[in-house]
Amino acid sequence: MPVEVELYDLLGVSYDASEDEIKKAYKKKAKEHHPDKNINDPDAGQKFQEMAAAYEILSDANKREIYDMHGLEGMTGGQGDPMDLFAQFFAGAGGPGNPMFGFNFGPDIGGSRRGGKGEDSVIPYDVTLEDLYNGKSVKMNMEKEIICGICKGSGARGNAKPKPCSTCEGKGWTSTKTRLASGTYGNSKAQCTACLGLGERLKEKERCKKCKGDKTVKEKTRQEIFVEKGMTNTQRIILAGAGDQEPGIPAGDVIFVLKTAAHESFERSGNDLLAKVTITLSEALLGFSRIILTHLDGRGIKMTTPPGKIIKFHETVIIRGEGMPIYRRPDEKGDLYVVFQIEMPNEDWRASVNVQTVEALLPPKRVDVDPIPEVVDEADYEESDIIDFGEDDDDWEDEDDEDNMEGEPECRPQ
Ligand SMILES: [Zn+2]
Ligand SMILES: [Zn+2]
Repeated sequence: MPVEVELYDLLGVSYDASEDEIKKAYKKKAKEHHPDKNINDPDAGQKFQEMAAAYEILSDANKREIYDMHGLEGMTGGQGDPMDLFAQFFAGAGGPGNPMFGFNFGPDIGGSRRGGKGEDSVIPYDVTLEDLYNGKSVKMNMEKEIICGICKGSGARGNAKPKPCSTCEGKGWTSTKTRLASGTYGNSKAQCTACLGLGERLKEKERCKKCKGDKTVKEKTRQEIFVEKGMTNTQRIILAGAGDQEPGIPAGDVIFVLKTAAHESFERSGNDLLAKVTITLSEALLGFSRIILTHLDGRGIKMTTPPGKIIKFHETVIIRGEGMPIYRRPDEKGDLYVVFQIEMPNEDWRASVNVQTVEALLPPKRVDVDPIPEVVDEADYEESDIIDFGEDDDDWEDEDDEDNMEGEPECRPQ
């Protein structure tokens, strides 16, 4: 009887189920609980990933043995409360502000080794904002190291036993005399190059035929991950124990780190979205009733302005409940903010209309500032870009001087 049966319960099998029964049960459950088929169940994604992880462990004889003997604690190298770890493993957790018990993902940690556990495989995975809005299941082919099935991880052929390494006399390291700065000689230790620090060696002909003594072989696997609605950039999807296997220690995890590129129409902040919508001058003055944008799920969003409303430049409206789905509560959504940009008519339009008629329709022009200053200078109308405001322009002025000597004297102040 195993120390705990939680993973068996997840798949709905008894603890003495055969490999085949476990496989069948998982296939059935995975179909039943696939998030694509349970759109209204906010927990579907989590259940699905839990079952995949349970299957990953129970379908592997080595991992199943460790689990039966030590429970989930055994699978995680015995850190912390196992139930808590279980919850965190499957939380798909992370994102900024929600660090996973002590291992933060950073540029220097990819594939870090923690006490008593194999190396994690950290894989960046590109997603679009559409993926994070709609959710997405991804099947991918991966290659990983698994314990060699022929020698069961010993690396030896048949009953051959490794012999202590003759080079290092079984210590795994050798010492060499090194000349020190002081001119005297000292001993320094270095890993034995003959046995790679293991202290024991197998003769060529005693090595396992399949893995050539490496103890592990490469295997192609197919992993399915589910990008859940409302997940964020840098969020991690963790497949516990799905990483490379090594004899004697639980396998590391496969960790997918989501990477989102900037979207061309929407900007995201938390659960809210922001979109810029361009309207024409006549729409700003007279109102409109039209589809103003296409949402991330392909729906059109139609809006009708209230009667008599004039929209000002950069005016913002809020469309409640049209933001991002909230992670793990996908029925709830944030808000969508729409910022209006007003497209002014161009010179072709102006040339095509009777200017006096337009002027008569529009509000009157302004007169001079009041009071009128005593001294008034004329300024040229030179187009510019606000980006240049405050820029130190000494440098380019020098370069341009030569051109200016010949060019457009009428632009110079008189
Ligand atoms: Zn082997
Ligand atoms: Zn050696």
